Order: sequence, then C-alpha cells, then structure tokens
Amino acid sequence: MLTWPAPFLPAIPGTGFPVHLHDSVTGRRVLASAGPVATMYVCGITPYDATHLGHASTYIAFDLLHRAWLDAGLTVHYASNVTDVDDPLLERASATGTDWRSLATEQTALFAEDMTALAVLPPHTYLGAVETIPTVVTTVQRLLDAGLAYRVPLEDGAGGDHPELGDVYADVTIDPGTGSLEGLTHDETVALFAERGGDPQRAGKRDPLDPALWRRERPGEPSWDGGALGTGRPGWHIECTVIAERSLGLSFDVQAGGRDLCFPHHEMSAAHCRALGGHGPRIQAHAGMVALDGTKMSKSLGNLVLVSRLRERGIDPMAVRLAVLAHHYRSDWEWTDEVLASAVARLDRWRSAVSGNGGPDALPTVEEIRRALADDLDAPAALRAVDAWADASLSLGGTVEGAPGVLSRSVDALLGIRL
Ligand code: ZN
Repeated sequence: MLTWPAPFLPAIPGTGFPVHLHDSVTGRRVLASAGPVATMYVCGITPYDATHLGHASTYIAFDLLHRAWLDAGLTVHYASNVTDVDDPLLERASATGTDWRSLATEQTALFAEDMTALAVLPPHTYLGAVETIPTVVTTVQRLLDAGLAYRVPLEDGAGGDHPELGDVYADVTIDPGTGSLEGLTHDETVALFAERGGDPQRAGKRDPLDPALWRRERPGEPSWDGGALGTGRPGWHIECTVIAERSLGLSFDVQAGGRDLCFPHHEMSAAHCRALGGHGPRIQAHAGMVALDGTKMSKSLGNLVLVSRLRERGIDPMAVRLAVLAHHYRSDWEWTDEVLASAVARLDRWRSAVSGNGGPDALPTVEEIRRALADDLDAPAALRAVDAWADASLSLGGTVEGAPGVLSRSVDALLGIRL
C-alpha cells in the first residue's frame, strides 16, 4: 500500500524531553519509549467513510507523539494498516451498489489526501489487509498448530469446495487477562463485544468472546486462497497483529487508536501477540471521541464531519489541525462552528505575530511546547504557550532578531502547524 508524502520537518534549536504517555490498560503515566528506537502501531481506517473528525483527531494525536520522539532524538518506526476487506466495508459497498474494491481504493486515496493536508507524518510500514493475507494464513496456521485456535463448523452453503473446513477462532480462555474488563460483568463485556463487531452468539464457539481469525468463504463475499485453512478472509484483530509483527515485531512500545478500539480490537490484537510468543504493545493509548451537536459522531447516525468537505469549503487544513489540537487527545469533545472559528482566529493571530523580523525571545516558548508534549501530549498547554508568545509579539513587539522564524519553525516541527 502506498503511503502519502512526508511533510518537511524544519530543524529547530535544542532537543525535546522524554515523552510520558497515559497507558489505558494500567491507567498509569509511563515513559513512552526507552529508545533509541521507538516503535508505534496506530490502527488504520476501514476505508468507507474517510476521513471524519474522529479519525483526524486520532491520527493528529499520535502524530504529536511521532514528532516529540523525533525531537527527543529517537529513531521512530511507525506502522499502520488499512482494513481494505472487512464486514463494514462489504456492507457499505452492498448498500450503495458499489464494488467494494472501488470503494476501498477511493476512500484510501481520500484518506491519504486528508493526511497530507493535515501534515500527518506517514507511517514507515503501511499495509492493507488484502496484501497481507499470505502472512495471515501462515500465522493462523501457527496458532492452530499450537492448539491456541480451533475450527467452528460452517452453516450449509458456506465454505466453497471445502465446506468441511470450518472458520478459525482464537481461544481467549488460554490468556487469563483477556475479556475481563474492569468495571464490567461478563454479560456486559459480551454485549460490548457484540456492539463492536463481535459475534458472541455464533454456535460452536468455546467462549462467546472468542474472535474470528479466518472467516471461510461465503456466497457473495470475496475470498482468497488460505492453503490448508481453506478459502476465506482474515479477521480484523489478527490483521493488525500480523502487520505489527512484520514491521515492529511482536513486542513494541505503543499501540494506539480511538477509544472505541480499546475493546475488543486492541485487547484481542495484544492477546494474539502474546499467543504468538511476544509481549504485544507495552502501552495502549487511546484518543477520545468527537461529537457533533451533542451526539457522538458515528457512521450509523450519518452525522460525520469529513475533513475533505471542510477542505472543499476552502477551510485551511491548518485551522482544522489547530481546532483538534485545542483539545487534549484523551478528552471527549464536540466539533462546533465556534471551535472552528476560534481555530481560524488563532491561526490568523499566530501568522500575524510571526510576520516581523524581530520578536520576543522564542526559546523559552519552544521549551514550554516541548514540556507540554512530553507530558502526555498536552497540546492545549502547548497552544497556550504559543498564544502567550503571540500576544507579547503583537502587543509589545520584541528585539530578538530571528525569533519569529524560530517560533514558526518550532510550531511546524513540533505541532505540525505551518504558519
Ligand atoms: Zn488495528
């Protein structure tokens, strides 16, 4: 899968601080990477409604981590995926009378355009589910051979020429930590699993929470050669595990995504990593949800604000990025006209403030931005530091030659805002 072009990263004076990040699993703030190589996997999109503000907010959040790591002198390996075959994509294609491949290609291209416009650094490894199928097949076979996965018999009409080969599911009971969510009963966990794409009612499973690893061929659905597994397609969680293993290994620093991926997706992917002999991600980091007019933005409600639509309206993508950065990545927040208007005004003010040759000393502000980012990616605090510099520059001026340039390049390198 081709990624999007990398934005230019200006050189800035000094070095960033070690970044600490909130781990969703333990609730603790921990060092995000001991270095010298930092590894991050951010779950990619299922390409059928790209790129809404919730997506943008997630990828911008972890782009800050990528930038802060680079600024601290670490080498970053960043991997991501595109789930270019899965139930929601096939359902959308069927509902709109579109070919699922065309829908995936078109939406993946739109996502790349939006990420480019929002100045998100691209992943180093970027793989689609379809192109990863041969590796998924060998990985699922490893789990079957190790007794960590099992077959579930198919309904009549499924399975093509080999209906005797069942779907393959992972056995979650082998990993004692899996499926016991804090504060939820087992029944509530099962309900959440169903709500987020799981199939707890499927007959023949050992545990309702067991996730599919390989879904055998069904009439009217695309399928691929699975060797001894039989024709079929990959499950979602194993897709990310396999792509993480290929790019970062089975033990890595951070797995990230929107908070709705916390369970079952990230929990199951991490369990698959452990089943395959790794430790999985050391930290799971999750971005909050973005609402519109008091309601959570969701595909089913049809109230998505798309970055491409904002761009079509002539809104500067830097203002969109700034609107996102005005909220802490872990908070839930609401997209409103006022949020956008305030970001547009802030961007104008910052641009006016850096338009002269001289200004207030920018180095203390650069340090404040760095400290804010190192403290669980506190973008709102970083923005306040730049506001203070801009206020001083506009009201008092300043005599430090080149200070506006230093500020401008630092805001670009650290926050991804081009002034
Ligand atoms: Zn994923």
